[in-house]
Amino acid sequence: MAKQGTFAKPHSTPILVSACLLGLATRYDGKAKRSQAVIDYLHRENLVPIPICPEQLAGMTTPREKTFFHSGDGRNVLAEDGHVISTTGQPMNDVFCRGAKMVLQVAHLTHCRCALLKERSPSCGVHQIYRGTERVQGVGVTTALLIKEGLDVMSEEDL
Ligand code: SF4
Repeated sequence: MAKQGTFAKPHSTPILVSACLLGLATRYDGKAKRSQAVIDYLHRENLVPIPICPEQLAGMTTPREKTFFHSGDGRNVLAEDGHVISTTGQPMNDVFCRGAKMVLQVAHLTHCRCALLKERSPSCGVHQIYRGTERVQGVGVTTALLIKEGLDVMSEEDL
């Protein structure tokens, strides 16, 4: 018989983690990008990963079209002076902003104050993104919103 109100209360800290880094096949190409360094880090630091994929949360399919910045980066998209587009030229700002807001909602629900996100993604990039085919300094749209809201964000390449 199930007991009521007896869930264990672990003394560990929740952290948002890009789902693809944990081995979930959430990427645009239908694949994962599992990182053993990330898994080891979470264990070592006694962190509880909260898997998030802003693009799936926004309702995008998997697989889906690849996307990149046409101008600016995530901060510019939030300020409505940058653009994310798909490879066929579809404007993606609204979808990416929706995904970012949903991730922020998850952060509030789970009391996360930090995030470990996938470098160079147009949603999750922390230090770099792609503008066209060029790799440039900048943050993804979700990263920009989390930083704006005061969360600490790092990428798998910071470990
Ligand atoms: S949006 Fe983020 S979590 Fe989702 S597949 Fe891309 S990098 Fe991974």
